[in-house]
Amino acid sequence: MSLKITNVKAILTAPAGIGLIVVKVETSDPGLYGLGCATYTQRLTPVKAAVEDYLKPLLIGRDPSRIEDIWHLCYLNSYWRNSGVLNNAISGVDMALWDILGKRANLPVYQLLGGRAREAAAVYRHADGRDPEEVLDNVLRLREEGYHYIRCQIGGYGGIGREPKKPQGALPGAYYDPDVYMLSVQKMFEHVRSRLGFELNLLHDIHERLHPIEAVRFAKSLEPYRLFFLEDPLAPDQIEWFRQIRAHAAVPIAMGELYNNPVEWKQLIAEQLIDFIRVHISQIGGLTPARKLAALCEAFSVRTAWHGPGDVSPVGHAANLHLDLVCHNFGIQEFSGFNDALREVFPGCPEVRNGYLYANDRPGFGIDIDETLAARYPCEPAVIQWTQARLPDGTLYPP
Ligand code: MG
Repeated sequence: MSLKITNVKAILTAPAGIGLIVVKVETSDPGLYGLGCATYTQRLTPVKAAVEDYLKPLLIGRDPSRIEDIWHLCYLNSYWRNSGVLNNAISGVDMALWDILGKRANLPVYQLLGGRAREAAAVYRHADGRDPEEVLDNVLRLREEGYHYIRCQIGGYGGIGREPKKPQGALPGAYYDPDVYMLSVQKMFEHVRSRLGFELNLLHDIHERLHPIEAVRFAKSLEPYRLFFLEDPLAPDQIEWFRQIRAHAAVPIAMGELYNNPVEWKQLIAEQLIDFIRVHISQIGGLTPARKLAALCEAFSVRTAWHGPGDVSPVGHAANLHLDLVCHNFGIQEFSGFNDALREVFPGCPEVRNGYLYANDRPGFGIDIDETLAARYPCEPAVIQWTQARLPDGTLYPP
């Protein structure tokens, strides 16, 4: 009898205090199942409902090996598409189907995708601090741990410095001043480079916090610090401005963690206006669209740098890594680390050694979930504060 999908469910868990969503697709072969990452931590319960109320009835009884067809079936079935909630739900199913395929073939997913182009993926870690000295201390600590790519921020996104001059009655929010931010980051890089020299690869994330012309000037001002890349300089609806950044600054640009769909990236890639694509793989719908995106990028000499923060589950990190291992145009992998609770809930987590992330050679993505343990770390929907970013006069701005 041919294999069929028998159940699809979404598992919510927060072993590191950040809500994660993992989809489990079960099959008619007892014990054969797949896992996929569907984490949209800011909107947990709508993803669970999309998976269990809509995708589950659509998929039960279907052949799990028809991954390409099932991806398009899920994508088109809602008629209206390209939402973060729906794409994450599809991603959970899509990765789980690749996991099942690998387990049936008794091969890691990276073998199904063409085999390893490298032994491990170089990762970057994140160093922050309240002043340049503290940033430097954290950079030195990460260097000591073996990392050779480090993203430097000061005071989180939006920087740190004098209190913004707000109008009377200004609404509450996460206030920041773009000028203070830009100057504090320049001072921080001046300090870090003056102490370290140029041996380490340093990165920085603007997180779309600037008006486009400010981002152009800021990118130009960072040229002397030889960044490995400058991340997310502009919002997804400001694509045309990338030509200005390109024209004025010889700084490698990484872009894309908020992207949902090819219309947002194809022009940037085809015109070679960015150097690294760094989408959040579950946000674009999973491994199937991500490997196509990587192939498109390869044709235009754009490298990959998949988004890898704490709100990607270890299953999602494993999927990132399997792509990193096979893509010729791999650039760098963002990595946030796993605490002990994550490693216990998700046996088979990728392992980092000396700044490189290694996959195990078990079938599929090589990672499992202990559902009993996962249930000990419940997720509660909460009002998100940090995305309520405001400019000094109180205007809301992308976080
Ligand atoms: Mg970022």
